[in-house]
Amino acid sequence: MVHIPPQCPLWFKSPNDDDNAPISPPKDVKACIPDFPKFGLHNCGNHRYNTENKNIHIYFQRFQRSVLRGQSRNLSGSIELACTKCNTLTPLSHLHDLPCGDLVCLVCLRRLIARVYANIAQNWRAIRHTRNQIDQLERQLHDAEIGGDPEETPSNGRAKKRRLSWPKISAFTNIRHENLEKECFNLSKRLLELAGLTCCGVSMRLGRLLACLPPETARDLWLIFQWVKDPPYRQRVCAWPDCGAYIAACCRWDVGASGYRYHCVVCQGNSQDCSRTIEQEQTRFPYLPKGQPALTPAR
Ligand SMILES: [Zn+2]
Ligand SMILES: [Zn+2]
Ligand SMILES: [Zn+2]
Ligand SMILES: [Zn+2]
Ligand SMILES: [Zn+2]
Repeated sequence: MVHIPPQCPLWFKSPNDDDNAPISPPKDVKACIPDFPKFGLHNCGNHRYNTENKNIHIYFQRFQRSVLRGQSRNLSGSIELACTKCNTLTPLSHLHDLPCGDLVCLVCLRRLIARVYANIAQNWRAIRHTRNQIDQLERQLHDAEIGGDPEETPSNGRAKKRRLSWPKISAFTNIRHENLEKECFNLSKRLLELAGLTCCGVSMRLGRLLACLPPETARDLWLIFQWVKDPPYRQRVCAWPDCGAYIAACCRWDVGASGYRYHCVVCQGNSQDCSRTIEQEQTRFPYLPKGQPALTPAR
């Protein structure tokens, strides 16, 4: 608190009025958040590719474009190629390479992103369910890695181990481990598909392309990525009543005895843990279930 001398007019604005401003999160939290204000359509149009780019090869094979034949290693950005989705001839510098091999123009990229929103709105329950299944599998994998058979209890464990010779135990553990990893992989793929984050069955890895998007679109899409991948027990929503946006798991920091603080990338406010839970299901993105731990506002 700053002592304000009595002669000061009532409208005196303390230089420490920032006391009410949110405290900036620590460096490692800031480092996980992309620099959204710098993003925008002005960044789009400088994309560089060369003939060694995997997608250019795929494109070449798919369409046998003679335009690419005999080009030097560095392709000119002004070469026009057809967008794989809408077929519009587009300068190469304005095309985005997706891992599936598609080269998409900005209009089609934004269409794909609109599809992500639609998928989240439609499939959020299935996404949440799948994410929980993955979480359970990850726990089993962890147990299998440290303890062998997760069905083993302290009372049956020793007897079983005596019955099985060592090579048998490790073969059993390895098969189990491989199966769990396969299942985990398949569920993760399903998760991305439910969220509309794949193209031709392959993850689009849209995080690379955030800078081409308007800051708010990029930020909301980033929040979607975080929500899809964050473990359910780490999911929180901003406690500021006018906000309620999702808080990414990487935006949490430890403040010692008083627990954790959570930074919101939407309102820049911080929240702290409290024991109450959300009593109503959220109706707006990102959908957190009833009973999810809630937060209380904090500076
Ligand atoms: Zn772009
Ligand atoms: Zn297009
Ligand atoms: Zn492993
Ligand atoms: Zn594709
Ligand atoms: Zn907020």
